Amino acid sequence: MKINPGKCVACGNCTYVCPMGAIYIDQKIHRATINRDECVECYACFNGLSQEHLNPTFVRTVRRVFQTFRLRFDPEPDVCPTAAFEPDPLTWPRLVRRAFSDPRVPHESTGVHGRGTEEVKTNDVSGRVKIGEVGFTIEFGRPGVGVRFRDIQKMCTALARAGVAFEKKNPVTSLMTDIATGAIREDILDEKVLSAIVEIKVPVERTEPIIRLVWEVEKQIETVVAIGVGARCDETGEESVVGPILEKLGYKLERAKTNIGLGRITNPAAPQPAQETIGVK
Ligand code: SF4
Ligand code: SF4
Repeated sequence: MKINPGKCVACGNCTYVCPMGAIYIDQKIHRATINRDECVECYACFNGLSQEHLNPTFVRTVRRVFQTFRLRFDPEPDVCPTAAFEPDPLTWPRLVRRAFSDPRVPHESTGVHGRGTEEVKTNDVSGRVKIGEVGFTIEFGRPGVGVRFRDIQKMCTALARAGVAFEKKNPVTSLMTDIATGAIREDILDEKVLSAIVEIKVPVERTEPIIRLVWEVEKQIETVVAIGVGARCDETGEESVVGPILEKLGYKLERAKTNIGLGRITNPAAPQPAQETIGVK
């Protein structure tokens, strides 16, 4: 993303809409400027502000005149008065920033918008997490923080060494050069995105060691990490295996989302009693 200095009138409206705090008013040139390294190409500035097409010279003059009388002339807060934002044509590897940060853009690898995964929200249709398994979503970054792929890779390599299975239909997995080691493409390691999600699954009995591993690696990386856990309910709609492990680890449980089987049934078919056959003449 770029701000055209010929158009910007330094009203400052855009500095409030950038989720990364990447836009600042450069006091030397009196124009809004984007910190390119921090910008994650989310397009919130370009899409989030209405664009007016006022003449920049006219607006600057009016603002100066008003200032003389200790008055302010400011555009409406949700407007860039001079349509100063100009999206850069993005090329690889910078393109990956937008793919993970602009919720309007679907991921090529999965066709899903945003972080590019439905996680286990659609487990009743996808059947990713089976009985006896637990699925984890490990989420990196947040607005204001973001994450670089180098830090995501640290977590992935540690998880790979622990022998987890990475979800194949996941944008981060699709950027790995080696799914067995968790290594991510070298050319994107310094790219920063708003957030990304790694998905893994393990047998239920490995729940605690995996969570402890995530806690350990989290201390070594410069972002925030959130863990989501997906488990299968029993036939009464309850879950009594993974929940107690999480409680033991100090989590207060809230049931977040429950899939009730509106998709296709992914449980193995229950054995049916032998059918009595009736001959019909
Ligand atoms: S909203 Fe537009 S005119 Fe105002 S500071 Fe930002 S880029 Fe410049
Ligand atoms: S594209 Fe997003 S991160 Fe970059 S300057 Fe605009 S709002 Fe900020």
